[in-house]
Amino acid sequence: MSEAVRTTCPYCGVGCGVLARAGEPVEGDRAHPANFGRLCSKGTALGETLSLDGRLLHPEIDGKRATWEAALDRVASRFAATIAEHGSDSVALYVSGQLLTEDYYAANKFAKGFLGTGNIDSNSRLCMASAVAGHTTAFGEDLVPGIYADLELADLVVLVGSNLAWCHPVLYQRLLAAREARPQMRLVVIDPRRTASCDDDTLHLPLAPGTDVALFGGLLRYLWEGGFADRTFLAEHLSGVDEALAAAIAPVEVAACCGLDPDDVAAFFALFAGTRKVVTLFSQGVNQSSAGTDKVNAILNVHLLTGRIGQPGCGPLSITGQPNAMGGREVGALASMLAGHLEWGRPGDAALLREFWQAPRLATGPGAKAVDLFRAVGDGRIRAIWIIATNPAVSMPDSVAIRAALADCDFVAVSDCVRDSDTADLAHVRLPALGWGEKDGTVTNSERVISRQRAFLEAPGEARPDWWAVAQVAARMGFASAFAWTGPADIFREHARLSGTGNTGARRFDISALATLSDAEYGNLPPTRWPCAAGVPAVDRLFGDGRFPTSDGRARLRPTGYRPPENAVSPKWPLVLLTGRVRDQWHTMTRTGKTPRLLSHVPEPTLAVHPDDAAGLADGTLAIVASAWGEAVLRVRHDPGMRQGCVFVPMHWTDRFCPAGRINPAVNPARDPLSGQPELKHTPVRIAPWHSDWHGFLLTRRRLGSDLAPWCAVLPSTAGVWRHELAGQGDAAAAFARLRPLLSEADGSWIVLSDAAGGLHRAALLRDGRLEGCLFIGPDHALPPRDWLVSLFALDALVPDVRRTLLAGRPADRATVDPWICVCHSVTAGSIRRVIAAGCDSVTAVGAATRAGTNCGSCKPEIGALLRLARPLVA
Ligand code: SF4
Repeated sequence: MSEAVRTTCPYCGVGCGVLARAGEPVEGDRAHPANFGRLCSKGTALGETLSLDGRLLHPEIDGKRATWEAALDRVASRFAATIAEHGSDSVALYVSGQLLTEDYYAANKFAKGFLGTGNIDSNSRLCMASAVAGHTTAFGEDLVPGIYADLELADLVVLVGSNLAWCHPVLYQRLLAAREARPQMRLVVIDPRRTASCDDDTLHLPLAPGTDVALFGGLLRYLWEGGFADRTFLAEHLSGVDEALAAAIAPVEVAACCGLDPDDVAAFFALFAGTRKVVTLFSQGVNQSSAGTDKVNAILNVHLLTGRIGQPGCGPLSITGQPNAMGGREVGALASMLAGHLEWGRPGDAALLREFWQAPRLATGPGAKAVDLFRAVGDGRIRAIWIIATNPAVSMPDSVAIRAALADCDFVAVSDCVRDSDTADLAHVRLPALGWGEKDGTVTNSERVISRQRAFLEAPGEARPDWWAVAQVAARMGFASAFAWTGPADIFREHARLSGTGNTGARRFDISALATLSDAEYGNLPPTRWPCAAGVPAVDRLFGDGRFPTSDGRARLRPTGYRPPENAVSPKWPLVLLTGRVRDQWHTMTRTGKTPRLLSHVPEPTLAVHPDDAAGLADGTLAIVASAWGEAVLRVRHDPGMRQGCVFVPMHWTDRFCPAGRINPAVNPARDPLSGQPELKHTPVRIAPWHSDWHGFLLTRRRLGSDLAPWCAVLPSTAGVWRHELAGQGDAAAAFARLRPLLSEADGSWIVLSDAAGGLHRAALLRDGRLEGCLFIGPDHALPPRDWLVSLFALDALVPDVRRTLLAGRPADRATVDPWICVCHSVTAGSIRRVIAAGCDSVTAVGAATRAGTNCGSCKPEIGALLRLARPLVA
């Protein structure tokens, strides 16, 4: 067996180390400081997502295969012509936290340095731009003070707007292990939903969406009035305390403002005040808001006031959603930033960068942030755009408007490893990019650790690195000498050199110690935390010395008065829509949607709704969610953990998987005034049953498309089977007649059952005794479970007994759906219930009996929920 390549998981901002070999399952890297060998369900399944189906393998112009020369010429000539006619700000790049730092650096240098526009923004704008703005205003620079180990050292961990168990599972596993070792450690979860991150010992504060500023403002006043401020730290290291206190609401008003039980608020305040080692971890639930920056500052304020920062087990900790959102921040690939933590507004910074890059046309100011950037595309101010490694036609709020803007844009280039995405379908030029496993460069995780992503697969077709494509276009536009890199190591060294240029310690982002790495040293670079300035001892945590990179060296408490979300609920739109992730999917499913294992957890787009808000909406039926901007149709899931008045919808589904289930057309485009981050966690909506006359499903050996019915969700299943879930209006018999011929292109023997009066129609096609496909249609969603039928496709021939029960949809001895809980070991809820009933009374005991939860551990919260449900029975 070949030696494993040390690389990094391409999904979330935890940045786990991975050992990978071509054609083998991946393993966690025990030597990596983020995960010490752990991987979550998504990371564990990485090896299953590497097939070339759906890959873009050659450049295309207007949908036809083209040479790289022709495609690069077209991009360069269209950008040059657009700038010549309409000026530098008529062009833009929209990039991604999926990019490696070297790709990011190249794109930012090209746009800001040589096209002369600030119009380069990243999909990280949707993820953590509010954290950037909050850190910068409080600390003077975008700096995450703490490290992951602080979660294990803390006595109190506060999760705000973070379903850590599902969205950053390995960090959650580290937290769980620390709590098992030190049961006195407390966990507070602040989230409108009771998520998988809550257990019996959690204090859960289900606050009203958007009220975090009031909660932390009230806490600030409570800490001050109760004498819990660190007066010495305050006197020596802080400014703005009086203004922040004046802006905060009174503690006594918090419960009413946030819709919380006053006892819970009092308990949280007392816990925070009485615990020295507190980590407040925050994520997208905080950032994705029209008050996102205020929320971040409100959290930072309480840590600063109490001096709980920069010490082991203490501090605010922002966790990014994407694998290299931090790298993008380092190279300044957001419209509001310059490279190397230089700033537009700081005297001398732009001149330093102009000189360093030898870029006389350096942009003169910030460009348009994501929402405004696509508005500028829509109204013709931006006429040429290059989109790299992201899918804004799905992921942006009000995404119907984004599609329309791109469809009307004079020139759209898309670099991606996927050929067909909702965005790539609108491109004039498609450039084939390398995927994970083929790329070579670096990423930075949420604790400032730079790790290598190394290639362990050959580049397929004509796919090339993104930095190379940028450099080639730049060269064609006359800037060859500034982009004459021979590989990613050249770019990294330039990036590292810039971080130390003119930097006598004022900029904490300094990796100049890495500026002289040889190619071999770069190749072997171990995980390295910054800052790592040449000649300066390394530190893990920032601000332990109380020095901040502001003009006076003091951190600033920023006043954050509570203001309600921009778009309020009303009688017409009475519920608040929150969007987010599910455990086993990633972004728009271009990779995780390839593996049946991961899709088995949540196979369709769902609407989680509190049972008391679900009048007329039975569990499992379809419902329409409508807002002032758009609508989606989703499978209803009753969830008593939802705060009443709120609904939750995952954001992953696209045209390829379920066109009607795309939620972002309904999401409001409000954004934070400072960070520009869209409000993905607060859209006023209404919900209603979606009228359908029939429901059905179709199982086949090939993918038939996602447009077979007015509502259609398509997903791969095991045994090479494609599952198509369907619903529609009109005559069920007519739908059956239309869909049945899709089962097979050739002849076979049919088994058919039709009960027109009952609206039941079922058919199965067998060829040489082997199941080729089946179609089930009924008047409601109460159809047979799919897993048994899917399993029959693996058989060479169906025995007579099976044929007899085939159209019943289940063997005679089985009557209920049994969903998988542990996708790593294929353990179902039924199996887990059985061992619980037999006496297993802990997650560990269930694991020992079934293996569930013993690989990645992502399903441990769900095993815990089954234990809690069963507790009265086994007590
Ligand atoms: Fe990848 Fe999971 Fe680690 Fe995130 S927690 S980096 S998705 S393995």
